Amino acid sequence: METKKSAELFERAKNYFPGGVNSPVRAFRSVGGNPLFIEKGKGSHIWDADGNEYIDYCCSWGPLILGHAHDGVLNAVDKTMRKGTSFGAPTQLENELAELILLNNSFIKKIRFVSSGTEAVMSAIRLARGFTKRNKILKFEGCYHGHVDSLLVKAGSGLVTFGNSSSAGVPESFVNETITVQLNNKSAVEEAFLKFKDEIACVIIEPVPANNGLLLQGKEFLTFLREICTKNKTLLIFDEVISGFRMSFCGAAGLYNIQPDIITYGKIIGGGFPVGAYGANKEIMACISPEGNVYQAGTLSGNPVAMTAGIAQLSECLKENFYADLEKKTKYLVEGINKINPFKLFKLFHLGSIFWIAFTEKEKISNADDIDANSMSYFKTLYHSLLESGVYLGPSGYEVGFVSSAHTYDDLDKTVLAFKTALNKLV
Ligand SMILES: *Cc1c(COP(=O)(O)O)cnc(C)c1O
Repeated sequence: METKKSAELFERAKNYFPGGVNSPVRAFRSVGGNPLFIEKGKGSHIWDADGNEYIDYCCSWGPLILGHAHDGVLNAVDKTMRKGTSFGAPTQLENELAELILLNNSFIKKIRFVSSGTEAVMSAIRLARGFTKRNKILKFEGCYHGHVDSLLVKAGSGLVTFGNSSSAGVPESFVNETITVQLNNKSAVEEAFLKFKDEIACVIIEPVPANNGLLLQGKEFLTFLREICTKNKTLLIFDEVISGFRMSFCGAAGLYNIQPDIITYGKIIGGGFPVGAYGANKEIMACISPEGNVYQAGTLSGNPVAMTAGIAQLSECLKENFYADLEKKTKYLVEGINKINPFKLFKLFHLGSIFWIAFTEKEKISNADDIDANSMSYFKTLYHSLLESGVYLGPSGYEVGFVSSAHTYDDLDKTVLAFKTALNKLV
């Protein structure tokens, strides 16, 4: 496979950007080699700068649930764009996207649009603190919530201790407001509530943790969180930046039928443009400025072009059987790959249209400690073999894959064959 142009572009990029990239995982550090520079995409396929074609399961890390350059999205965006790209004043398009969401999602009653998932989470945390007049937040090891200061915290050594910052530049005083516990561990959560009685503003969780492998939680654990939060007047935040409009139109809240207090969205909601959002009931949302005293604003918030893309994409998601078809395809892919895995070297976990390849013998992986870091060397070999066979995944073994409505059964069959070839190299 010729990747000369990508390599040249990367050399140039290294002069301009730290590590040659504008977001770290793109740099291919965990799989080795140079990142591929992408030239174009259509449907389920992408082409790199050297003209190599791939079936894409990264899908821009989740937003592209209809695949690349979807005609409906492009046509709508084109029309809006010609009327101007940003006004910093309200437009009808914000109402339309809000109506599309709120009329089809009973878990939130009001919404605020922002420009990224990180911004949505950051604002949701401020809202929870403003509403409860408490400072501490509880998060889980193995969940990612964007690069928000107080959430770049990893667990300490004890069951319930203040963690350590996972990034330089985060003041210790911020870290001291964040309690980090293991996923799927009720007693750790109970202990935290005992230790910090009446101090915890919110518990934040990815209800389908999909940023550090796919660490599926039982409904029972999520229900337990709902109950312990209610009992302690703590707000439960579902960070649905990845699972929103992915697990179902109502995300994981809809899938499990659990009512969180605040939900954050991102990725799919923007149809490939930078959009995030957070929503809650009317009472909680009334705290947001200008109605209330929790300040949050944005120059490009509710941007008309981005709103248009969101409307076009979410309208497709509302069509009959959209999610059932996606899930059927994902199951087909996962079962196909698992079948050609005679040595049980790896396991594919999946939920809805998200899948994850784990090199493990474990039946279930539901918390970050269950992942064997050494197994990532297998992923490296697998990854490069898949690229050679024309299959593109996110370049890290901790990342999940996404099936879009643009993937065809022919794509899926070819992917299974690519895995077969890769497997031969692994054993
Ligand atoms: C991607 C993601 C974020 C961050 O969103 P950005 O748009 O990258 O800032 C936050 N939370 C979850 C669960 C995510 O998957």
